[in-house]
Amino acid sequence: MTKLWVALDHADPSALVRPGGGDLRVWLCEAIIAGHAPWGVVVPSSLLARALAHNADDRVCWGLPDEPEPQRAELRAELAQATTPVKVGYSHVPGWSCADIARLLLEARPAGGRLVLEPYCDRPDCLAACSAVLTEQRLMWKLTIVKEMLDVYAEIGFRGPWVARSGPLTWQEFVDQLAQAVELGCSGVIVGRALWADLLPLDEAARQALLGQRLATLRSLLDPAGQAS
Ligand SMILES: [Zn+2]
Repeated sequence: MTKLWVALDHADPSALVRPGGGDLRVWLCEAIIAGHAPWGVVVPSSLLARALAHNADDRVCWGLPDEPEPQRAELRAELAQATTPVKVGYSHVPGWSCADIARLLLEARPAGGRLVLEPYCDRPDCLAACSAVLTEQRLMWKLTIVKEMLDVYAEIGFRGPWVARSGPLTWQEFVDQLAQAVELGCSGVIVGRALWADLLPLDEAARQALLGQRLATLRSLLDPAGQAS
């Protein structure tokens, strides 16, 4: 599974839609799948069919809405049926460890099914337990790289496979923080608003140019030696 993703499953789609026409999610979905391998897209249900129409199934991840009750049985049923990788964001549930939630969700996936988990949790004990979950390459963590959390990952020695989320950082802040995240074991990104927030008003050529430039910048930060295939 690629570790280079653009998140188009933003909770507020109005940030991606131009008044009077034009949905940037649709444009980005097509542009990335058609022209920017190995980048993939994390898409909401409404864009799944469009993304999957390109026979690039390993570069399409279904982003579920943030989950207030990740322990509920209905969610596990959904995860059991999904044929693409799935991303679930969840807040800390009192009485549960975020790592136990992760195990529960991972068990629900069919054999070989991939899962991206985004715990909105800043408890060092929880994150240390998450880091110890045996993933067998089926699970990838999506974590914030705001400064104070990078300090936490360093302190606990977070070692699970993880990628950086960009929210709430701007493009420049995200780029600035990413080098330090890579030193702490971050091996990819799921980049959202920081990448696309200022693309919306641009014309298509300018948009395409800036998108290509930014994706290349992120790849070079993640792989300074340029060894990735
Ligand atoms: Zn937690």
